Amino acid sequence: METGVKDYSLDDIKSLEISSLDEDEEQTQEEDDNDDDDEDDGPVTLGFLEKPSNLYTLLRQYFPSKAGGVPAWLDPVDLPSEQSCLCDICREPLQFLLQVYAPLTNTESTFHRTLFVFMCTSMTCLLQDQREQWKRRPEKLYRSVKVFRSQLTRSNPFYSSDPPMHDKTDKPPGIGAALCHWCGTWKGDKVCSSCKGARYCSGKHQVMHWRSGHKIDCQRMNVPSRSSLSNNKTISTEIKIGMFASNALWPEFEIISEEECEFDTEESECNQSNALTSEGQKDETIDSLSENFKGDDDKRSWASFQARLAKAPEQVLRYSRGVEAKPLWPVSSGRLSNTDIPKCKYCDGPMCCELQILPQLLYYFGVKNEADSLDWATIVVYTCEGSCEASVSYREEFAWVQLPSLSHAVP
Ligand SMILES: [Zn+2]
Ligand SMILES: [Zn+2]
Ligand SMILES: [Zn+2]
Ligand SMILES: [Zn+2]
Repeated sequence: METGVKDYSLDDIKSLEISSLDEDEEQTQEEDDNDDDDEDDGPVTLGFLEKPSNLYTLLRQYFPSKAGGVPAWLDPVDLPSEQSCLCDICREPLQFLLQVYAPLTNTESTFHRTLFVFMCTSMTCLLQDQREQWKRRPEKLYRSVKVFRSQLTRSNPFYSSDPPMHDKTDKPPGIGAALCHWCGTWKGDKVCSSCKGARYCSGKHQVMHWRSGHKIDCQRMNVPSRSSLSNNKTISTEIKIGMFASNALWPEFEIISEEECEFDTEESECNQSNALTSEGQKDETIDSLSENFKGDDDKRSWASFQARLAKAPEQVLRYSRGVEAKPLWPVSSGRLSNTDIPKCKYCDGPMCCELQILPQLLYYFGVKNEADSLDWATIVVYTCEGSCEASVSYREEFAWVQLPSLSHAVP
């Protein structure tokens, strides 16, 4: 059985699962005198964005890790509830940020496992969210960033127990829940009362769709024939064309994973062959910066953060799961201490750090760098250590946001 499970992990399933590495610890130890031991955090898998050569590879039957566009729901039926899909602050439906396929092969229940991250596009909401997350043991947090975990056993109602072949023989998956015609993201439980065809997650998205042209389409769908059969035909055409009617979704990318240690090797080889690479110079500069700022935790932490990211500046994601996994904090103030990590709200068990999202993602999403534009220093995702089962298919996990205002104070 165990062998069968391992065989499943094909190279082209972009799983971000961590394999144990017996490589030496990080070669760049910028701060030996720092007792925060940020560097002893074990192997980290980095995520990079690429435009997929074939968009079909991002469909849910291929268990993608992806950013932007719409989510490829793992469980396509039992989607998050109407309340879960809203920003708790402005009540607008949240936008899909990214998902990471991260199965855990130690338990049968996590044979397939995907984490989904959503956020409100309003920076005002993120600032409010930042204040909310500091509340200790609250009844209810008002969040604008939400993370859901979905997992399935190898034998499940939605997917073959054999890995996808990535050719035309792959069965299309069964039909999932009807989605919102505007955002293509959330369950479309609300139906347009006029055409009875267009579906929406929220009144807000119905209004958006109406204004952007459904007003005309809706009448067209009604006029030619009142018979339900031909009506359905028209509707399915319109669904295909207008499925993701919103033009506000973030652009879609595939997330490609690489081990961080790979970049160590490349860099050192690079330095050996050519000592004058800009890479080497940058590191030295940061090292000396680090020296200059000794005594100021935030500045040191910032310099160390930048130096670590400089190994692979295009990374948008850092993945490292487990009790020993530690986030790479941009600044030391405003980080979540281990004692403050909340308990899993489903099993009351401990949560551990699993995923860290970097603001480089915003660059790929074309988010402008203006005063009220969305921005963060890092988003750290904590998940249930036992990846527990629960009555709902999408379990809400915990995200900790560190805002750039803190790091901006650092030169
Ligand atoms: Zn909001
Ligand atoms: Zn919607
Ligand atoms: Zn309509
Ligand atoms: Zn749990």
